[in-house]
Amino acid sequence: MSEPIEWLADGTPYSPRFGDRYRSACGGLSQAREVFLKGCGLPAAWASQPQWCILETGFGLGLNFLVTWAAWKADPLRPRLLHFVSTEAFPASPEDVLRSARDHPELLALAQELQRQFWGLLPGIHRLAFEGGQVLLTLCIGNTKAMLREQSFEADSVYLDGFSPPRNPDMWDAHALKAVARCCRRGTRVATWTVARGVRDTLAQCGFVVGKVPGLPPKRENLQGSFDPAWEPRKTRPVSVPRTPGHCVVIGSGLAGAAVAASLARRGWQVLVLDAAAAPATGASGLPGGVMAPHVSPDDSLFSRLSRSGIRITLQHAEALLQAGSDWSRSGVLEHCIRHPRVRPAAWQQGDAGAARDWSRPAGTAQLAQAGLPPETPALWHVQAGWVKPAALVRAWLATPGVQWRGQATVNRWVRQGGAWQVLDAHGQELARAELLVLAAGYASRALARGTGQHLALQAVRGQVSWAWHEPGMADVLPPFPVNGHGGLIPALPLAGGADRLAWMAGSSFERDNASTEIRPGDAQHNLARLRALLPGTACQLADQFGNGKVNAWAGVRCATLTHLPALGLLEPDLWLCSGMGSRGLSFAALCGELLAARLHAEPLPLAQHLADALLPRQTAAAPTPEVR
Ligand SMILES: Cc1cc2nc3c(=O)[nH]c(=O)nc-3n(C[C@H](O)[C@H](O)[C@H](O)COP(=O)(O)OP(=O)(O)OC[C@H]3O[C@@H](n4cnc5c(N)ncnc54)[C@H](O)[C@@H]3O)c2cc1C
Repeated sequence: MSEPIEWLADGTPYSPRFGDRYRSACGGLSQAREVFLKGCGLPAAWASQPQWCILETGFGLGLNFLVTWAAWKADPLRPRLLHFVSTEAFPASPEDVLRSARDHPELLALAQELQRQFWGLLPGIHRLAFEGGQVLLTLCIGNTKAMLREQSFEADSVYLDGFSPPRNPDMWDAHALKAVARCCRRGTRVATWTVARGVRDTLAQCGFVVGKVPGLPPKRENLQGSFDPAWEPRKTRPVSVPRTPGHCVVIGSGLAGAAVAASLARRGWQVLVLDAAAAPATGASGLPGGVMAPHVSPDDSLFSRLSRSGIRITLQHAEALLQAGSDWSRSGVLEHCIRHPRVRPAAWQQGDAGAARDWSRPAGTAQLAQAGLPPETPALWHVQAGWVKPAALVRAWLATPGVQWRGQATVNRWVRQGGAWQVLDAHGQELARAELLVLAAGYASRALARGTGQHLALQAVRGQVSWAWHEPGMADVLPPFPVNGHGGLIPALPLAGGADRLAWMAGSSFERDNASTEIRPGDAQHNLARLRALLPGTACQLADQFGNGKVNAWAGVRCATLTHLPALGLLEPDLWLCSGMGSRGLSFAALCGELLAARLHAEPLPLAQHLADALLPRQTAAAPTPEVR
């Protein structure tokens, strides 16, 4: 359930939980501008900076974020990237977020965009992206202290908001403000509307130098200051020095390489993507169409949380870059739980039920009927899910300004030459040179890394899909959405480029330690057998096409790690690995691109630190776990 909010007669939102108004009597807009932006010296302070990072405690209804975003948009000297990190223990509903901006026409369009992305806010970290990824909102849903303790970025400005100290003392106590101080560098500006003695003293204890300034009537005073401790602050995690964008070479133009290239280019890098093939997306990412649906587990495992973080980002990109209906569809996906019932985490039936239902819920009888399944079938309905053509996403990412693609460039090895990597072909000819190198060559990453003495525990997993053109009337008998759970079916994929020529696609096979892309007739039979278990009625409808040779095939090689998590991290200074997407390149590639860029630039991470740490190449090469797909 979203946080209940009462709307007072004068239009002010009020929290029954805290017995306090969400905004001061002078109005939210003036408070945001005068207290927070002006209090932190913005927008002047961020002028011509490459990035700016604001930390806020207490997101509330998002007005401070909207006002800051609007100021960024209006400023010709705005930073290339604006990070806004905000903590919130009790997120409001998307409807209340929009309603809160209703009286401010200048913010309405932004509020509508915020509302569209304001769903599924389970406890944890959520990355929302606006302005083509130039305004990044990181929502930390949970207790401020706990959420901030895990962070390792340094904020340039801090907005201390939230309900008043007497109503919500937890947010203003020494532990909370110490957690804020840990996210500050010397000179970080801080602003708040409260001048309570206790808050001033605690801020001073935590290393802030603050003073009262005249407030907006009827408030007499506000507080402003900066982080300037008398001691040398110690960081529990080392803070890396942000990189200045320069030149980067990415090896491989599948989902992984293209996503990294786009994330770096958005931050000002000149990226050259090399590929052995004559066109982008000819490896595993040449898959005609793939399914993207969150993974669900009773303990809400690392893999499950990672799948949600990744899908949220891919959805943002698909929404912004692709043509709905022909490149992708947010159709929802039905998971028929054949092998074992997918037990949803206990919290999803209690406090987190509302946010969880935004993601995945027990399938309804109507959905089951549409798939031709009996009402008692164990199944989940994944709301934030659908199908995507990977090659379309790759092409869109490669079209990001700053990215250049070069085909028929087979990399053999690389050597250090002064401060740069020299990338060489099999004849020792230089293909490219750059200070930063990213290895994103799918399963070929393993052999390439071995050449430089690195052993990567990457596994080849061959797979073959079966597909055929729709026959007349077929669209009416197939399920109207993809179904997964034992192989899968995408019932209507517009393969000929337009939305008019539809195909269905089923599969795929899954064969470990096999890197062959040859087409095998046996795999088609295997796909049909699995379809019979997944969707018996549909399999009957399609069996004739399998029998009369009308079914086509596509085969590719997935690259998996032993933990099934993607492998993202430094192999050596300035040499990154982004691979091991397994069966979920559509869920993981965009997230990995953003994570790599965030680490390089010492930005707030798009997901919880411990989830990010689990992707380091040395972690993903750990002991094997059971199959997760
Ligand atoms: C049958 C099948 C079904 C799948 N279904 C789904 C699905 O439903 N949903 C989903 O999310 N994922 C699915 N996947 C997985 C998904 O396709 C992959 O996770 C993803 O495409 C991997 O992207 P990548 O960029 O890591 O690798 P790739 O797409 O394989 O890209 C690697 C690139 O590196 C290039 N390269 C290799 N060696 C060199 C070299 N020496 N020099 C230069 N370039 C080089 C290759 O030419 C290639 O373009 C499926 C995969 C298969 C095979």
